[in-house]
Amino acid sequence: MNPARIRAIYRRLQEANPEPKTELGYSTPFELLVAVMLSAHTTDKSVNTATRVLFPIANTAQKILALGEEGVKPYIKPVGMYNQKAKNLIELCRRIVDLHGGEVPNDREALESLPGVGRKTANVILNIVFGHTTIAVDTHIFRVSNRTGIAPGKDPLAVEQVLNKVTPEEFKLNAHHWLLLHGRYVCIARLPACPKCIIRDLCEYEPKTPDKDLAKSDAPVARNVVREAKDAAKAKTAGASGAKRGSKAAGKAARQSARAKSAKTAARKRAR
Ligand code: SF4
Repeated sequence: MNPARIRAIYRRLQEANPEPKTELGYSTPFELLVAVMLSAHTTDKSVNTATRVLFPIANTAQKILALGEEGVKPYIKPVGMYNQKAKNLIELCRRIVDLHGGEVPNDREALESLPGVGRKTANVILNIVFGHTTIAVDTHIFRVSNRTGIAPGKDPLAVEQVLNKVTPEEFKLNAHHWLLLHGRYVCIARLPACPKCIIRDLCEYEPKTPDKDLAKSDAPVARNVVREAKDAAKAKTAGASGAKRGSKAAGKAARQSARAKSAKTAARKRAR
């Protein structure tokens, strides 16, 4: 894809969402590290369900270590593979306490040496916590990069390398979030919501989902369109039956007033 088109794509994503943020709940670098580590092969929603309960009890490496592997399991049950993740989490906390004074290290090698932390997690932490222009490639970003033609590659590392090369500097800090959110809400794996996509004319993917199939797409943006159309139809029906009820009531009132009028006339006649 030519550089001008790539720049145009990022510009549109930026205009639509100038300050993109992670959807994982966190308030400290350590909380984010735990959340990202737990998010492997599961949704942000289930991670947030777990951490909403865990973090008020234990949100430092020392406190999670004190809970122990068995103690932490009930909290992280909502995320998949929680047995393995509990094991990794405890070991991760131990190393953070022993080797990094309880702090999240600002160093790729140190991050990647932690249990349960791979290149993707390290990139997310370096990007969000420390402001590095790293672009973590998850399943959404891998798909969007390949489909659109921004950064084709056979595996996440290849895509990351191309993204680093082709993404203009000014967009690098937020590129991860823009591409991820686009993949999560619009360009989903099955039946992407192409008719509602803001970069449709710039995207090289073919065949795009046709307008007539938008309602079949599970993309959140498509579901919103369908919901809005249903709400509008409901409102129209409610309006029409309201008007019908209104005209029925008006007819009834007119009939009552006519009856009252003729009763008055009859009474007057009798009085004469
Ligand atoms: S046009 Fe379709 S395939 Fe291309 S980015 Fe948009 S949703 Fe994805």
